[in-house]
Amino acid sequence: MRGRLVKFADLVAAYERLEATTKRLEMRAILSELFQSVPRPELAEVVYLSQGQLRPEYEGVELGVAVSLASRAVAEGTDAAPAHVAERLRALGDLGDVAQELLAVRSAVPTEPLEVREVYQGLLDVAKTSGEGSQDAKIGVLRGLLARTTPVEGKYLIRFVMGTLRLGVREATILDAFAAAYGGGTKEARLRIEAAFNVSSDLGVVAESLVDGGLEALGAIRLTVGRPVRPMLAERAKDLAEVLKRMEGSAALEFKYDGLRVQAHLDENGGVRLFSRRLEELSAQFPELRTELPLALRTAPAIVEGECVPVDPETDEIRPFQDVSRRRGRKYDLDKVADEIPVVLFLFDVLLEGTEETLGLPFPERRARLEKLVQGSTRIRLATQRVVHDTEAAQAFFDESIAEGCEGVMAKSLAPESAYRAGARGFWWIKYKREYTQGLADSIDGVVVGAFHGRGRRAGTYGALLLASYDPAKGTYESFCKVGSGFDDAALQALPERLKPFETAERPNGVETGMEPDRWFTPGLVLEVRGAELSLSPTHRAGLGKVRAGAGFALRFPRFTGRYRDDKGPEDATTVDELLRLYRTQVRRESTGDDDAPEGAPALPPGRKD
Ligand code: ATP
Repeated sequence: MRGRLVKFADLVAAYERLEATTKRLEMRAILSELFQSVPRPELAEVVYLSQGQLRPEYEGVELGVAVSLASRAVAEGTDAAPAHVAERLRALGDLGDVAQELLAVRSAVPTEPLEVREVYQGLLDVAKTSGEGSQDAKIGVLRGLLARTTPVEGKYLIRFVMGTLRLGVREATILDAFAAAYGGGTKEARLRIEAAFNVSSDLGVVAESLVDGGLEALGAIRLTVGRPVRPMLAERAKDLAEVLKRMEGSAALEFKYDGLRVQAHLDENGGVRLFSRRLEELSAQFPELRTELPLALRTAPAIVEGECVPVDPETDEIRPFQDVSRRRGRKYDLDKVADEIPVVLFLFDVLLEGTEETLGLPFPERRARLEKLVQGSTRIRLATQRVVHDTEAAQAFFDESIAEGCEGVMAKSLAPESAYRAGARGFWWIKYKREYTQGLADSIDGVVVGAFHGRGRRAGTYGALLLASYDPAKGTYESFCKVGSGFDDAALQALPERLKPFETAERPNGVETGMEPDRWFTPGLVLEVRGAELSLSPTHRAGLGKVRAGAGFALRFPRFTGRYRDDKGPEDATTVDELLRLYRTQVRRESTGDDDAPEGAPALPPGRKD
């Protein structure tokens, strides 16, 4: 079998071709060719490696290699002096380039080609090694691999380790490539493959079933406890009348709790794992939920979803979401903080109950199941719900929700088609928040792509950030505002440190803007802003040309809300299509004579006809 193993050189050749293009179609072709050339046992590994990962993202496997450690490995693996490596790093700015340069002039040239499997195993060992002596062990593995790479292989190995591959390969591109390789490239194949990914969150698993049995085999991918499902998402409506119209007159309204979305997985032995909206594991942060869930649910295994909100321990009132976000980032004193900031998990959905997958059932049936499943406890409760048939009843429920400390309502369709649509945003769920009745409908989650130096009181930190919206169709990040307000002193001081991991010398591929910030960042950090309105501007490129040729959406008077969306990845930021809908909502408001358009707003462009 040895001869069939994939050579690392083949993967690196694909990396080189991917790096040389930004065109999604070309990327799809390169990846589809690569995947088809790989034998089944190595396919998942190659899929993860082409994403710049070792395991599916939700597992959170990290190499844990800092630049100092990687520099030492490069020095030892190329017989160069550490000072020389440091000097070349200053000159070239990329440790991968340094490795390539030094490997080209080393004395001992490797004879036996490296295989992908060896690299993969080595890197997995690096990731798994922790504790005392782990630094030396990690260096040992990397040095061993470097000794056997060609210069160009060394470059990509080091970039992989440093997390700076910059191939521009996103999940969507890989799904495109799967559709091309195993589904004849049709739209239907793409949709089915994406649906399989949405329930498994694992591109390796999807690839393997495609190879095993083509598109038909995807249906056999089961929900698995411990493997998170990508969350179903909601659309917005301009008012409660629209909510009811979209839902054909009747809807289940629920309190919309403002906290942290949590997907809880309970196994048959009472083990609990908790995942965030972006599928990061939160289990360690909420020990009390892990204790209570097995007691609060009548059946195991189960997968349920809810919103985790902080409550006042004395009055049981809901507290501001900031309290729960303080717990989210905690690594120490987890039990102590659990007493200080108690939380309640308000459950609103059930995806798996015992051995039965319930996510395909219509929502009313899921809710009925959930009500039976949850016996409730201090920390685990059901989301408050009421089925309404008219706007008066909807408004009354909305008011109750606000009075209880919630931010609005979440409307859920009662239609037979109201299955849980993993990973999809649609009108089966509609969110309606209090802030929709004030100024611009809803806050916007923007990705930081650049920053401007501060002056005066802000000298030494950033004065403003350049934010972008995401376009999933093109895979681009397009600017929509420069925001400097809303940052208090502490937030300002912390900015350079927070943004450091994303710093990059040039405008990253796929970032579109007419502005020239002082610093560029790889899209990564997401934060929430509000503004007076969306207007059109030639400087900003978000949704360029969607309303008027040559102009993108620009947020007027943007202000940071103080909320970092650590629970969102850059691809979860507000999309350009959402901006378009927000833009149209405000146009409609004015045309319907609502008086909440911002004062002094310029004449708004014509709205849509529907
Ligand atoms: P989105 O999740 O739509 O991208 P977001 O993260 O900015 O947006 P919101 O716009 O505030 O969040 O609203 C959606 C979120 O509301 C859900 O993801 C969930 O975390 C939360 N939520 C609170 N109560 C409920 C509920 N009863 N049903 C569903 N989701 C709820």
